[in-house]
Amino acid sequence: RPRVGVLALQGDVREHVRALAVTGADAVEVRRPTELAALDGLVLPGGESTTIGRLLKIFELLEPLRDAVADGLPVYGSCAGMILLARDVLDGRPDQPLIGGLDVVVRRNAFGRQVDSFEADLDVAGVGGPPVHAVFIRAPWVEKAGDAVTVLARVGEHPVAVRQGHLLATSFHPELTGDTRMHELFVEMVLQRGRA
Ligand code: GLN
Repeated sequence: RPRVGVLALQGDVREHVRALAVTGADAVEVRRPTELAALDGLVLPGGESTTIGRLLKIFELLEPLRDAVADGLPVYGSCAGMILLARDVLDGRPDQPLIGGLDVVVRRNAFGRQVDSFEADLDVAGVGGPPVHAVFIRAPWVEKAGDAVTVLARVGEHPVAVRQGHLLATSFHPELTGDTRMHELFVEMVLQRGRA
């Protein structure tokens, strides 16, 4: 069973642990740099990216996580987690810490006040079956993506699910719907890396 961590500093940690457990992964909460070495994959949950970024510094996880991403650890970021994986953020707080690794620029709280939160049924490339019911909560979108990034889903013209090699990110929160297909996709990425 792949051992998949959920960064547990702030955000909807338990929902991700539950969704991962349904896929058959061994899901563990992660708070310390020393816990990274034992992981086959890591989920960065939704929450508040500026708060999580600040806590990453306090818990001395920022540099170890950058190293882990550079070493090829599969990481899935949802919502705030997507922001943390981005190389840059628009409408972020000045100097908000990012892990980076994913060659995208995201716009924070991109959907604006009128549609602060909304739900949509999305076709996600690589996910079979009916459309994925996606929950967006003060979500970012991808404003710019590098050549190595594959867009898996969009709302209008805006990418809301992307993959770049071992990195996966969604603007939405699959952990809130009971549909575990995004987590299954991620665990598949984790297993593929283990075999490589
Ligand atoms: N708006 C939040 C942020 O900037 C993200 C919201 C979420 O994760 N649901 O971090």
